Amino acid sequence: MLIKMMARAEEEQVAHVIERIQECGCQAHLSRGVERTVIGVVGNTYEHRNELEALLAAPGVEEVIPIAHPFKLVSRDFRQERTVVDVSGVRIGGDELVVMAGPCSVESREQILETARAVKAAGAHILRGGAYKPRTSPYDFQGLGLQALKFLKEVGEITKLPVVTEVLATEDVEQVSEHADMLQVGARNMQNFPLLRRLARTPRPILLKRAPSATVKEWLLAAEYLLAGGNPNVVLCERGIKTFETETRNTLDLAAVALVKELSHLPVVVDPSHATGRRSLVPAVSRAAVAVGADGLLIEVHPCPERALSDGPQSLDLPGFAQLMHSLAEMRGGAFQTRDRPGSKANVLEAE
Ligand code: PEP
Ligand code: MN
Repeated sequence: MLIKMMARAEEEQVAHVIERIQECGCQAHLSRGVERTVIGVVGNTYEHRNELEALLAAPGVEEVIPIAHPFKLVSRDFRQERTVVDVSGVRIGGDELVVMAGPCSVESREQILETARAVKAAGAHILRGGAYKPRTSPYDFQGLGLQALKFLKEVGEITKLPVVTEVLATEDVEQVSEHADMLQVGARNMQNFPLLRRLARTPRPILLKRAPSATVKEWLLAAEYLLAGGNPNVVLCERGIKTFETETRNTLDLAAVALVKELSHLPVVVDPSHATGRRSLVPAVSRAAVAVGADGLLIEVHPCPERALSDGPQSLDLPGFAQLMHSLAEMRGGAFQTRDRPGSKANVLEAE
């Protein structure tokens, strides 16, 4: 951190700032120019960040410039190797592109089973499906809750696909953890700090969606809660942010995907379904996400989108999903083939 003093800062003011830095357990390194003095702060600036930043209010201080990122454990400065998150045998963040697919909401046993079989046959690695739905209106379908969790668990076992589903409330964490292989933090909950703290203590990996109005920094700080609390298995998910544009449901921030891969060692996946809100855009945007370096995709798929209880217009039908998988395989230089990895619950897709 650098503290830039005003051009005519008095000696006493400089001395006072140095004293405060030392009170915070850090060291001050003075650099005196002709015009002004700059004070470099070294030491454990994370712990005393707020107090050091408050020095902007001290007499004679012009600017406080943080040098390190406010996040630590998620940053690439802290860990240079890329993190690979293991979801019951499916590795996210390695060389393979991981595709998570399934309906927005679990609506019935038949619906989730039919979808799971079809997405697996097309090459998906992980089954998604909402049991607890965060809906804008209280009159909209809220999800089947525990019943949906039971269907997901059963269908995951039948099809040998790991399952990801959203946990909405802190009190549901235990129950959802018993039924799913990975827990999703929805966009609306990205800064639900009690939920993040609770999830930091689960053995399950977390899929952390970016909130529609969160900056990249806020998103990474939300992930920092999980890592700092003891859960290193975090996958970030870009799902579009709010902008002035209304033609698409959200605006997919693809640059943020590339940026986060520079800033953090955590895997990043893209959700083109919520990002666009339009089925027709999902394939092109999926390919763009792969091109920009996404480690995986989260795609909404429904056997009959026109009858879906949530997010039908953005859901691919079963043939549409198979087609998308085909085009992704072509893009990655060969057909994907499905096979069961020995001793694992998961499918592995390999480019031929
Ligand atoms: C979802 O995945 O169905 C969902 C509600 O996503 P988001 O939290 O990104 O809106
Ligand atoms: Mn949805």
